Amino acid sequence: MKERSTGTREDYIKTIYELTALYGRATTNHIAERLVIKPASVTNMIQKLASENPPLLNYRKHRGVVLTTEGEREALQITRRHRLLEMFLQQILGYSWDEVHEEAERLEHVISDKFEQCIAQVLGNPRYDPHGDPIPNNDLQLPPSSGIRLSELRPGQQATVQRVQGRDSALLRYLGDIGLKPQTQLSVLDYSPLDENLRLQIIGQDQPIVLGNRVTRHVFVDLA
Ligand SMILES: [Zn+2]
Repeated sequence: MKERSTGTREDYIKTIYELTALYGRATTNHIAERLVIKPASVTNMIQKLASENPPLLNYRKHRGVVLTTEGEREALQITRRHRLLEMFLQQILGYSWDEVHEEAERLEHVISDKFEQCIAQVLGNPRYDPHGDPIPNNDLQLPPSSGIRLSELRPGQQATVQRVQGRDSALLRYLGDIGLKPQTQLSVLDYSPLDENLRLQIIGQDQPIVLGNRVTRHVFVDLA
């Protein structure tokens, strides 16, 4: 029972961290939706985390929550574990990149500090996970990460894929099939404003491909 409540607490902090990174803030409803929990229970947990010493977050009714420095440290710690585990599952155990997220979600709550250090060492202290997401180092510093979406590119631009959204396994399988992964280089041939489709040439492939906004907004790139 104790493990589960710890897991839940960590899930909250991680979810708030992710929502803040994506949308600038985390509302009770949004947290509830992500965790599939009733908003009333979310409010309870939020009040608990806000009254810890030191508090992990600040809570303003109707305005959402913001992590404190302490809360952010915890979020980065869990993120480090999660992403190292994803890398471990892929590189050492042979999982595919669409399977690692779900497994890491379970394992991140139960491994020890020692286990975390060991896998970091075995993997050679990687800076990015299988989806290209940055792994906080031992001092919880994040390597640089691109904020430019592939969907923002226009004809004539060239880029290297840096990371892809790693929670959606169907999307990951599709991207894997068409050969769009971190480090893939591409150039944009055409853009059609009405349906927001991009025609792309992946460097090293024969035929161009057309991708819609539902795919391209989940892919982040570095401009060449
Ligand atoms: Zn990932």
